[in-house]
Amino acid sequence: MPNYGVPPVALARGEGARVWDVDGREYLDLIGGIAVSSLGHAHPALVEAVSRQVATLAHTSNLFLHEPEVLLAERLLGLLGAPARVFLSNSGTEANEAALKLSLKYGRANGRTYFVAAENGFHGRTLGALALTGKPSIRDQFGPFSIDVRFVPYGDADALKNAVTDECAAVFLEPTQGEAGVVPPPEGYFTAAREICDVTGALLVADEIQSAIGRTGHWFAHQHEGFLPDVLTLAKGLGGGMPIGACVGFGAAATVFAQGDHGSTFGGNPVSAAAALAVLDTIDGDGLLEHTRTVGAELAEGIAAIGHPLLAGVRGRGLWRAVVLTDGRSAQVQAAAQRAGFLVNALQPDAVRLAPPLVITSAQVAAFVAALPAILDEAADAQ
Ligand SMILES: *Cc1c(COP(=O)(O)O)cnc(C)c1O
Repeated sequence: MPNYGVPPVALARGEGARVWDVDGREYLDLIGGIAVSSLGHAHPALVEAVSRQVATLAHTSNLFLHEPEVLLAERLLGLLGAPARVFLSNSGTEANEAALKLSLKYGRANGRTYFVAAENGFHGRTLGALALTGKPSIRDQFGPFSIDVRFVPYGDADALKNAVTDECAAVFLEPTQGEAGVVPPPEGYFTAAREICDVTGALLVADEIQSAIGRTGHWFAHQHEGFLPDVLTLAKGLGGGMPIGACVGFGAAATVFAQGDHGSTFGGNPVSAAAALAVLDTIDGDGLLEHTRTVGAELAEGIAAIGHPLLAGVRGRGLWRAVVLTDGRSAQVQAAAQRAGFLVNALQPDAVRLAPPLVITSAQVAAFVAALPAILDEAADAQ
């Protein structure tokens, strides 16, 4: 169907942070399948875990238990350091659907009738998650929706305070906005959000589908902000390329769902769960959080040191950055980068997203930084 347009490159294979197209041309992958390929391409640990699991038991459905899903849920709780319960899904939007149904049930039991989310926020494409998505261009033609969602400007604690009352079921926020252009929150925003939700009794749902699993240099982006949500959603980087998502409920939110309230045939299937365990083990065992902080800082500092009329600056944390432009030329930057052998993502007209595999090397980052001035020149001159 024409919903994706025609992608500019057809990829055939990858290794680490490098990929090759069907004509054998090599690229440095600075987008990692949209912050998904955390371990890069064809990582031996991922290959081994997936191969072993598919050869052992590929699927059980939710009628039967299997070891990888239990180990994965326990592993996530260990990383979060708080008692919680986990529902496993296949994707980000499904993790948010679980969070939404959970919040809806919680709200209905307490006379809470509406939700709050952020302008320019992104929570997914299925109808529930789309209702929470504050981007009119992808949302409006599919409305009206069956839930009442009120939007507030991201980062404005006063606006949040005014919008959230004791009739609000839940507040859905990204601890750094991804699709909006890798926009971190202002200092103290999530402390205020946590307090507003505590006072009113609304659930605070942190959508970390893009920001978690080491992307920012911590396991979870909320750890930068020093708060714990009531509900946390994960997906993208968790499976390292295999489809998996998670909805984590803390405290009272852990037990809102009763038996029969929700489910998924494929969710948390053994192969994806084994992949996720391999991702978490490798990030831990190979020191990839520290690596992400170090190499991410090299990337940001390298870009910031380039003086170029098209370059306004760089935003974000770890290996999750937006190159901010002075003019709406991100499509030209993406095309020029591709010609130079680098895959980047024109995220907003004035923002180019970089979310490379966490295994990208200092030398690879340096190669991109060195090539960027010429890419910017070409983009500035392009029609
Ligand atoms: C990508 C994304 C989603 C949707 O995930 P899918 O796996 O594409 O359904 C939801 N929320 C955020 C913050 C995302 O970045």
